Amino acid sequence: MRVLVNAGPWLPVPPRGYGGIENVVATLVPELRELGVEVVLATVADSELAVDERLAVFARGQFPLLQRPYNQVCGVVPAHQNAVLRRVAAGDIDLVHDHVEAAGPTTLAALGLPSLHTLHWDLQKHPELYGTFDSHVRVNGVSADQLSHAPDALRRHSVGHVHLATPLAVGADRRQAVRKEAYAVVLGRITAGKGQDLAARLAHEHRFDLVLAGPVGPCHNPEDLATADQQNPDVMYWREKVAPYVDGARVRWIGSVMGKARDELLAGARVALFPLRWNEPGGTAVVESLALGTPVVGIARGCLPELVEHGRTGLLTADEDQLGELIEAADALDERECREEAARRFTPAVMAAQYLRIYERLIEQPPV
Ligand code: UDP
Repeated sequence: MRVLVNAGPWLPVPPRGYGGIENVVATLVPELRELGVEVVLATVADSELAVDERLAVFARGQFPLLQRPYNQVCGVVPAHQNAVLRRVAAGDIDLVHDHVEAAGPTTLAALGLPSLHTLHWDLQKHPELYGTFDSHVRVNGVSADQLSHAPDALRRHSVGHVHLATPLAVGADRRQAVRKEAYAVVLGRITAGKGQDLAARLAHEHRFDLVLAGPVGPCHNPEDLATADQQNPDVMYWREKVAPYVDGARVRWIGSVMGKARDELLAGARVALFPLRWNEPGGTAVVESLALGTPVVGIARGCLPELVEHGRTGLLTADEDQLGELIEAADALDERECREEAARRFTPAVMAAQYLRIYERLIEQPPV
C-alpha cells in the first residue's frame, strides 16, 4: 500500500519547536512504515523524517508568514496542494491521508481517490473551516468529543476517532518511577482556551506551587515579550489575565521547554493541570503526562474524559472552583497506573494500527 501523507507547507516534520500537527505526523509515519506502508510525505524540503519519498514545493516551513495578513499568504496552500494533485496524477498512490486544515478537504475532493482527512481543530471554535464540507472524502477526529461538535455535513463523512499517541508511551510501564517535586505544571501554549489564568489564581488560593511552561504567542522566553506585537491575542491574554498572578515564587512562567527538559519537568510534577476553557480536541500533552507517570487534574471537557480515568489516572471536575481542591487529592493516585495506561493505549503503534485499519477499509470500499 502506498499512502501520500500530506503534512502541509507550514513546518518541517518533525517540527524543530512548536508544531502540533507535524508532531502527530512524525509519530505516525515511522509506525506505518513498520507495518509495511510506503509513505510519500508532502511537506517542506527541510523535513528530516525518514520516508519512502518526499514531496516539497517550499525549501522551508512557511509558518512565519502566518504572522502576516491572510491575503499575503493565501498563495502558499494552493501551491503546495497543486503539487499534491500532480503527484497523485501519476497513478501509483492508493490513498491520501491529509492533515492540512480547510484547504485539504477541498483539494481532496478533486482527487477521486480514497482520501482521509484528520481533524485537528476544536470544531466549535472553527466551524467556518468545515461549514461547506461536502465530498466523497472521509474524516476522522482525534477524540469522540471533537466529532460531536462537528457540523452535520462533516459528521456524515466520519469514520470515527483515533486518539493521539506519544513515543513516550513506549515502555512506559517498565520505566522507573521518578521522585515527585512539590509543583503542579501546566504545559501548553499560553492561550485563553487552555486556562492558565485559572490555574494561576487557584495556585494562590489553594497554596500550591505552579509552573507554567509554553509559549505566549510568538514568545518562547519572558525576554521576548517586550518586543512582541502587543495586540497579539495571546500576548494580551498573558498581560491582562495571567501575568498579575505570576510572582516568580508561588507561580512561575519558564517559557517554552523542549526535549529532555520538558520530559523532566512533566515527570517531576505532582500533577499535570488542564484548566480547560475550550474543548481540547486531542491533548498530546495529556497523554505525554500519563506516559511520564504524572496524574492529570483538569476540567472534564473536550478529550479529557476520554483520555483520563477519573479516580485512577487523574481527577476531573466540571466545576472551576473545585479544581484547586483536586490537586492535593491527586497525590493519592498511583503514578504506575498512569504509565501502564499510556503503554496500553497511547503508543504510536496503537495509533498506526487503527489508521491502517481505516486505510484498508477505504481502499476496499472507496467512498462514492
Ligand atoms: N510543547 C512543548 N513545549 C512547550 C509547550 C508545548 O514541547 O513549551 C508540546 C507538548 O509537549 C505537546 C505539544 O507541544 O507535545 C502541544 O500539543 P497539545 O495537543 O497538547 O496542544 P496544542 O498546542 O496542539 O493545542
